[in-house]
Amino acid sequence: MNEIILLKCGELVLKGLNRAKFEEWLMKTLRYRLRPFGHFSIYSLQSTIYIEPEDGFDTDSAMEALPFVFGIVSVCRSYVCEKNLEEIKSLVTDAFHSELSAARTFKVQAKRSDKKFRYDSMDIMREVGGHVLSVFPHLTVDVHSPELTVHVEVRDRKAYVHIEPVEGAGGLPCGINGKATVLISGGIDSPVAAYLMARRGLELHAVHFFSYPYTSEQAKEKVFELLRLVSRFAGRIYLQVVPFTEIQESIREHCPEDLFTLVMRRFMMRISSRLARACRSDALITGESLGQVASQTLLALAATDNVCDMPVFRPVIGFDKKDIVAIARSIGTFDTSILPYEDCCTVFTPKHPKTKPMIYELEEAEKALDIENLIERAIAGVQDVAISPSGAEIIDTEDKQ
Ligand code: ATP
Ligand code: MG
Repeated sequence: MNEIILLKCGELVLKGLNRAKFEEWLMKTLRYRLRPFGHFSIYSLQSTIYIEPEDGFDTDSAMEALPFVFGIVSVCRSYVCEKNLEEIKSLVTDAFHSELSAARTFKVQAKRSDKKFRYDSMDIMREVGGHVLSVFPHLTVDVHSPELTVHVEVRDRKAYVHIEPVEGAGGLPCGINGKATVLISGGIDSPVAAYLMARRGLELHAVHFFSYPYTSEQAKEKVFELLRLVSRFAGRIYLQVVPFTEIQESIREHCPEDLFTLVMRRFMMRISSRLARACRSDALITGESLGQVASQTLLALAATDNVCDMPVFRPVIGFDKKDIVAIARSIGTFDTSILPYEDCCTVFTPKHPKTKPMIYELEEAEKALDIENLIERAIAGVQDVAISPSGAEIIDTEDKQ
């Protein structure tokens, strides 16, 4: 029996004249993502991408990887035959022998996109359904809520049969909308924010602020692991770890305590924008949610935006914590996020942080700091890390040059 994987592209099909570009982009991503599983051919026809395995292709592993690729709404492992009703009938009963034996009720769903095929979809359903009943007499047809649905699609080149498709990751192919820089902490929200924006077709660059010895090596490893989990969807992520201790200590020494967190966040935004520009990333992403903590009030967000000269995306801004947790669970980051290591945001938290800060107050407080020098020294100490689904790899300076 010949197998083939059919991928439905969802939103891509709405893109009018750009559709070809989107499909080409998605196919380029797929060629890269499926390369570890062996040789295959790939083409698109009628808003569907076809992956035809060649000898030795590991279809099981490919089926596990495909639901992580953005731009696809469903993944069907199908069997192929000629467009001949007798062949279709016997393919259905052979290919799904064990599923049909185990089910009690079923239905056949047919779609004929090749209008020249002499049987219409009603004929196909009736004929294939009748054949299934003759081979598996214990079954009954239930058109409303069958235990098993067998899909038959008669398309331009061939006929395809499959049972329930696997849900795809949705969204748009990675990188098609450019690159953005996520400020990643070890918490629940920022990995979810990274995932949500990658799903809208952004390639990710990441920045993490690290305050050794106030935050531990384990806290950094936790960030690596969170990004590794996100990279299963988003592809390779280039992470920059910024030493933040000197900046935090200077703020503690020279600025009013109630502004401490906000001054610190303004540093994060300034440094992240610079690192973003340097790697051609055009926006920042944070995991902020309105009112969640003192530094996420409307005025606090305005005060942090004020030092940025690029868009700041906050995809969870209107979400309740429980909504964010539900996504974190569904993408597999939650259990890592709740490991109990400190983040630099929590090390010098003021007792009474200001929730309605004025920008002039922050600017006044920052006059006590040598902002430019602090930023330059932090950037000079950046550690670069390449994150992929197989793990984190520190890029040493020699490799960078
Ligand atoms: P999260 O669960 O993402 O940590 P949070 O509710 O703990 O969010 P904050 O600690 O106030 O919120 O951080 C708000 C946002 O600031 C984070 O979502 C993240 O984008 C960014 N951020 C916080 N700490 C760091 C850090 N150490 N490095 C980089 N970005 C950070
Ligand atoms: Mg946090």
